[in-house]
Amino acid sequence: MERELQEKLQSCPNLPSPPAIAIKIIQLANDPDVDFKKIVQLLTCDPALTSKILRIANSPIYSYAKKIENLQQALMVIGLNATISLALSFSLIPALQSSKGAGLDYDLYWKRALMSGIACQVIGKVCEVIEIEELYLAGLLQDLGMLALDQVFPDLYLAYTGQQSNHASLIAHEEQSLGLTHGAVGSWLLTQWNLPDRLRVAVAGSDDPTRIPIEDERATFTHCVTLSGMIAEIFLREIDDTYLQCVKQQASSLLQLTPETLMTVLETVKERLPDTEKVFETNLQTWNDPQSILEHARESLLMRNLQALQQVEQLKLDTVNMEEQFSHLKETNRHDALTGTLTRAHLDSCMETAFERAVADGECLTLIFGDLDKFKSVNDTYGHQAGDLVLQSAARLLLTSLRGTDKVGRFGGEEFVLILTKSSGSGAEMVSERILEAFRNAQHEISKDQSLTVTISLGVATHTPEDPYSSVQELLRHADEAVYYSKTHGGNRCSTYEAMKTAQTA
Ligand code: GH3
Ligand code: MG
Ligand code: MG
Repeated sequence: MERELQEKLQSCPNLPSPPAIAIKIIQLANDPDVDFKKIVQLLTCDPALTSKILRIANSPIYSYAKKIENLQQALMVIGLNATISLALSFSLIPALQSSKGAGLDYDLYWKRALMSGIACQVIGKVCEVIEIEELYLAGLLQDLGMLALDQVFPDLYLAYTGQQSNHASLIAHEEQSLGLTHGAVGSWLLTQWNLPDRLRVAVAGSDDPTRIPIEDERATFTHCVTLSGMIAEIFLREIDDTYLQCVKQQASSLLQLTPETLMTVLETVKERLPDTEKVFETNLQTWNDPQSILEHARESLLMRNLQALQQVEQLKLDTVNMEEQFSHLKETNRHDALTGTLTRAHLDSCMETAFERAVADGECLTLIFGDLDKFKSVNDTYGHQAGDLVLQSAARLLLTSLRGTDKVGRFGGEEFVLILTKSSGSGAEMVSERILEAFRNAQHEISKDQSLTVTISLGVATHTPEDPYSSVQELLRHADEAVYYSKTHGGNRCSTYEAMKTAQTA
């Protein structure tokens, strides 16, 4: 802080100052040899202060099983430092309450201080901060600098035209008018008052959490204070969804609080309002009914999550749909549009897979090459459309002649390849004869009152463990040679490669 401003603050007669009892408590707090007796002696002089400490020590924030009935017990149960911090908070409150200045809305200031104090304790508990009483004090005093600034610069807040309950906008006004914010001034005051370093750092950093890096061991303490002010504001002004989203974001990035935990914090703060009102004989009236404030917050903080979840669900659904479409597309690519048999590409890959499996399992594999006889003349005589109908009907005939595990693919035009797994030469010959017979007997309808008969020529090649092939291409070539052999012998017949070779060498 600039020297000039410091001097101004120092020479200001109305600067907020701790009451006599607070000064004594601070002295004790700074005394390394302080003992229980001295604290008890001092605090019992102020019955109002004592009753406040007992009331807070018995509040749900501590949830001790046993009721704390006197200061000695409070000191035993909540500890020396905690009692000192609480005593300090309560003794400083009159200074905050009685301050009167020029442009600051003091009623609002006071409510904000108390609510921030409560929120600090609640957040501190959730974040497992040990010194929650000191946090309470930090929350309470975080805006102390505003009291000082209002005394030293009476025009400062008078000139501010925005809502005083909008803290961010108020800070922007300070920054614009003075080039500094009340956090720095409050921190300076606390140093003057001899309060612990942790408090000073928290008050200085409360307005701008980026001022204290997350690695700093005092970061959690300070960030609890920052969030407490933001939470107090939820109760003190009409806030919109953008503000709530900002609180949610800060709660998550500064203290890793989930929206659900943040909601619990808000609910706990609300629950503690009536009790706090009683302790301080004050009215913590909020801008709206706290219950409806919470409902608004719940909707904004949690429903948006729900929306996000729904979006994720929709995305998953879209992915499933896309996968279905993709697999449908894949299926379409695998099957020939006209005949419904496997496409050439898929046929190739199925032959490859079947061959690899047969080799690996030591099983037989037969390929049958089928070629319709004189098909060109069907087209020439009855037209291409009739030819298409015959091709479809012929494909159906092939498909129905095979076992479920066998496959039929369209090799091209009016040529088909049949993959017969685990099928020996003799088995394949039987299948071939059955196919030939089926074709001889089949009537292929080409119009309502016209049907045709077509025959087929087949060529069979079989891989067996005893007589193995080195590749599926070779197996296919032999089946092709065998069908050619069938054609040259008049068609409408079946030849195995083996028989063809025997006949050729004979
Ligand atoms: P072969 O007995 O020697 O097999 O004589 P082919 O007439 O059956 O054989 P070729 O290879 O000379 O002619 C095949 C014919 O098949 C020629 C072509 O027009 C016809 N074709 C190929 N694909 C289709 C198709 O998708 N639809 C129709 N309608 N005809 C087709
Ligand atoms: Mg042909
Ligand atoms: Mg043909």
